[in-house]
Amino acid sequence: MQTIQHSEIIPAFLEKVKAAPSSALLLDYDGTLAPFQIDRHQAYPYPGILPLLETIQRRRTNLIIITGRPIHEVQSLLSPLSNVEIWGAHGLDHLLADGTRQPVKIDPELQNALNQAEQWLEAQDLLPHAEIKSGGVAVHWRGLSDDHAQALRTQTLQGWSSLSLQEGLKLLQFDGGLELRLNRPDKGDAVASILGNLSPETPVAFLGDDLTDEDGFRRLVNRGLPILVREEYRETAAQAWLRPPHELIQFLEQWLTVSSS
Ligand SMILES: [Mg+2]
Repeated sequence: MQTIQHSEIIPAFLEKVKAAPSSALLLDYDGTLAPFQIDRHQAYPYPGILPLLETIQRRRTNLIIITGRPIHEVQSLLSPLSNVEIWGAHGLDHLLADGTRQPVKIDPELQNALNQAEQWLEAQDLLPHAEIKSGGVAVHWRGLSDDHAQALRTQTLQGWSSLSLQEGLKLLQFDGGLELRLNRPDKGDAVASILGNLSPETPVAFLGDDLTDEDGFRRLVNRGLPILVREEYRETAAQAWLRPPHELIQFLEQWLTVSSS
């Protein structure tokens, strides 16, 4: 795997963007556009990202965010960027660029199981570490000592063990936490829906950092360009790798250049 300076994959892809009447730029939020923060509500994009996205949006590019966060959180962190299509809660909630909301309905039985996961956290006094979202309950340990994080992880895995076996639910491990959530949709489903609305020739890239982005990467192999954005390389289905923020910004500047011509 090569970084942007050496890879031929990215320049070849950008040539397609240059030639196409329109393109789609799919972006994860946390860890991709924004550095992690102990306070999740302070996780703003890297300096320089917002103006670039704002201009790219006006240059033949469908800008689409695919995130595990609720839509309203990403909207506020991306402000003043507006009219962006957002897939929130790993694809469970969908906001079109024109502001139309298209939420997916949750099975009551699965919702009940998620409520139980939340009640267990409450009974253990763990709600300060919890994030309750559409279709999932997460526990975060970013900022805690290694020992404390490990203890919290073990305790939660035990507490949720029977719930996590329920069909239709899965346990997601991500950088800095754990989430019990609906099996589907995942980010791969969101990518598949997006592809379904594009012509087969439209160039599509998806940039993400985390394990939950791998479902999206796999959907894009042989159809578009999946890109891992991460300081350190790891095993991935992505076909290119960018280190944030420098190489990410460089990539967005190149996207802007080719889509402006
Ligand atoms: Mg991420």
